[in-house]
Amino acid sequence: MKQIPKFSFGVGDRFAQEGVNQLSALLKASELYGREFAPVWNKSNREHTIIGTTPKSTRQEADEAVAKVGYKGEYFCDADHISMKNVDMFIEHCDFFTLDVADYIRKASTPEEKYSLAIAKAGELYRYIAAAKGEGNFVTEVSMDEVDEAQTPEDIRYILTEIAKEKIPVQTFAPKFTGRFNKGVDYVGDVSVFAKEFEEDILVLKWAVEKLGLPENLKLSVHSGSDKFSIYPIIGELIRKHDVGVHIKTAGTTWLEELIGLALSGGKALELAKRIYAGALARKEELSAPYATVIDIDENKLPSVDAVNAWSKDEFARALRHEQSDELYNPSFRQLMHVSFKIAAELGNEFITALRDNAAIIGEQITANISERHIRRL
Ligand SMILES: [Zn+2]
Repeated sequence: MKQIPKFSFGVGDRFAQEGVNQLSALLKASELYGREFAPVWNKSNREHTIIGTTPKSTRQEADEAVAKVGYKGEYFCDADHISMKNVDMFIEHCDFFTLDVADYIRKASTPEEKYSLAIAKAGELYRYIAAAKGEGNFVTEVSMDEVDEAQTPEDIRYILTEIAKEKIPVQTFAPKFTGRFNKGVDYVGDVSVFAKEFEEDILVLKWAVEKLGLPENLKLSVHSGSDKFSIYPIIGELIRKHDVGVHIKTAGTTWLEELIGLALSGGKALELAKRIYAGALARKEELSAPYATVIDIDENKLPSVDAVNAWSKDEFARALRHEQSDELYNPSFRQLMHVSFKIAAELGNEFITALRDNAAIIGEQITANISERHIRRL
């Protein structure tokens, strides 16, 4: 069976340009911190639709990056957040499938009423993919994270029991944890409550491996996992304590590093970054709508277009970069930019050319972000 290694890191990027930088960041982190993280290039149907790309481009990005770097380890392409409606275009190109059944969770008082339909749907989708790709040729994740209400450890116990009955060989499970996992910013919530829940979830998964016969490498998957700096040390401590793995899914954080790199390049590249902000501010409702459950933008904290146009390259970079100790850091600005890659997509070649023209400085931002800001904290 195709198996996801103990530690893995989701590194999709919006425009499929940063494969080498992402892979290099993971290799650098493994050198620095002594843990290997398998790269998983993930891009959901939502992001493909907004940008107008297909899963083939993600596969090409991954294969090319691996060849260029000469990487010999395992890597994966994740059909992220798929359902029966959109799975077909992913089947050929992916070997990791995130079955998103959150839409089928019902409002009810018992786990059975809440989750039975969702798990039946996961079974249907799993069997559909297995019929096309062959059992054992792909990694299966089940995700339920994009909902308002967190799943308790008791819920997860029921969910995994039913997953085992459906004979889904789940290797990663993505629950909705307590607290807010907003895109591109830190965790919002009580970290001690999170710590207790995360540890109980680990124990439920261990129980499920032992008692239900689910795959031995079954582990938690943390979605919207980029930038959750305040809980990374907790996750790190708990996975070491219980000797289990983890999958952290990130993607959008890399597009923000592209913007920071453009800003720091100054001149035309900085102008371009400012134009993207002006476009984003004018269309913030439209851009925010698909991410309603995973962003919290304080409109009063969004700077005016005039104010941003007056910023230096450093001021732009510092407002955007996730350094909480920096007084210029602006999480609302950052979250709006996070969901505004559609504006860059509409710029087409102009944006891609700018990325290539300023590749060195952008590359430094991306590798430092993944290796030093993310994995070091884990
Ligand atoms: Zn998710």
